[in-house]
Amino acid sequence: MKLIPVLLAATLASLGNVALAQEKILNLYSARHYQTDEALYANFTKQTGIRINRIEGKEDELLERIKNEGSNSPADVFLTVDAARLAKAHELGLFAPLKSTLLEKSIPAHLRTDDWASFSTRARVIVYNKARVKAEDVQNYADLANPKLKGKFCSRSGSHPYNLSLMASVISHEGEAKAEQWARGLVANFARSPKGGDTDQIKAVAAGECGVAISNSYYVARLMRSTKPEDIKIIEQIGIVWPNQATTGAHINVSGGGVLKNAPHKEAAIKFLEYLASDDAQRYFADGNNEWPVVASVKVENPALAKLGKFKADALPVNNLAMYQAKAQIIFDRAGFK
Ligand code: FE
Repeated sequence: MKLIPVLLAATLASLGNVALAQEKILNLYSARHYQTDEALYANFTKQTGIRINRIEGKEDELLERIKNEGSNSPADVFLTVDAARLAKAHELGLFAPLKSTLLEKSIPAHLRTDDWASFSTRARVIVYNKARVKAEDVQNYADLANPKLKGKFCSRSGSHPYNLSLMASVISHEGEAKAEQWARGLVANFARSPKGGDTDQIKAVAAGECGVAISNSYYVARLMRSTKPEDIKIIEQIGIVWPNQATTGAHINVSGGGVLKNAPHKEAAIKFLEYLASDDAQRYFADGNNEWPVVASVKVENPALAKLGKFKADALPVNNLAMYQAKAQIIFDRAGFK
């Protein structure tokens, strides 16, 4: 007699699984939204028959949302920008372990962790005003702390993930003591209190309000591709430096994502991440935001990136950026980098 309910339960459970599998849906929580995304997602549905439900939002809001939804979260994949935010998702225990031979084969090891992978890269470059600063004085991140540049350095907040990840890379390479010295030097060189985003720093450098700043490469590329007269003027005023070319290489950050621990459609989620590492998807994903693909064999045809040219990229594992996030914030706070 006891067998019947057990069997019944088993049958129902397997029927449930079949129903779920037949749903062919992927719930994608994405902090990336660019024009080329439509084609990116449509191609995935065409290839796999899996329909994508997109929930788009600001990076930190999406993270909060997944956290709050807890075990009931419908989220299958979380895509966001910056290793700092991916690291936070990891810290919160939101990701499932990422197991895929295909991803291991196509994405370099330093751009993966155990539970998330990168799908495009961006560099943090030095932007200077050609009339106010000499290129040879700003060849390295360390140069920005040189008293020579007193009153000339501008930056966005030290609490912003882009700066935290850069600081994490400095800690990784130089150790905490040197990293703090560097942060104090930057603060001593401030032209003004940190404010605005990377593009605001570029504009302030072009206007001469600041002599030098740091920016993610895609903001520079975006201005380079712009046909607006005011943007063309900005580009004319500034010089771009790939930092640390004689040493560690330019600091690299990423866009990336992972499968969520409570994902209802784990198989579809892995399929989607594997799709993002395919040639076509890599092109859409990287080019849509003027970034570089992570798959070495994939080339993008992007006039701004071509103009910026080749450079030596820091090969520091993204895991290190993740590891030193908290330390980075402590050091910025101690140095008074608000
Ligand atoms: Fe950005």
